[in-house]
Amino acid sequence: MAPVPVPGWRRALRPAVPGLALGAGWGLAVLLLPAGQPATAWAAEGAASAPASIAPATAEELAELAARRLLVPVEGVAPAALRDTFKEARDAGARPHDAIDIPAPHGTPVLAVEDGQLVKLFTSVPGGLTVYQFDPSGRWAYYYAHLDRYAEGIREGMALQRGQVIGFVGSTGNASPDAPHLHFAIFRLRPEQQWWRGEAVNPYPVLTPGPGRP
Ligand SMILES: [Zn+2]
Repeated sequence: MAPVPVPGWRRALRPAVPGLALGAGWGLAVLLLPAGQPATAWAAEGAASAPASIAPATAEELAELAARRLLVPVEGVAPAALRDTFKEARDAGARPHDAIDIPAPHGTPVLAVEDGQLVKLFTSVPGGLTVYQFDPSGRWAYYYAHLDRYAEGIREGMALQRGQVIGFVGSTGNASPDAPHLHFAIFRLRPEQQWWRGEAVNPYPVLTPGPGRP
């Protein structure tokens, strides 16, 4: 999660060496993509698109998600221990976080927050080892990043059960080795249900205690 001061390089290269700037810009753009966002996949898909936009969840959506009583996706972490890091800036303010970070020791089991389908196992420069899960309705995606490794037997297309171990906390991608954590995001999928595209909603109010949730 350490800020990477590469945007300056891009600006410096662009006017001086236009041909180089394109290539360098593309390579750096991959490096600059936010940790743990579907934007990482956009790069892999070859689209130079902007990162996922934030579209605040409506009250109805929040109520719906809260009613699912999603598990905190890191074993042994209580909802009350979570911190809302959704709006924190990353890369020196270059982008919003759009997720929450859940610190835990290396190797702590990462759990599926609810039933659903494991749609994609993806490795990206910023996110490291990641898992994309769709919820049972196919309208939401859950994203788990910086995994140290996947759980044995995990494969794309498989059904996941709430609480199933999908991997282990680590610091792959751009996470600091000194601060292993799970980067967890919830995305509202588009009708096309593309795993790499969606609008981030804040997982914090969904995972934390509230009215009707002890
Ligand atoms: Zn994060």
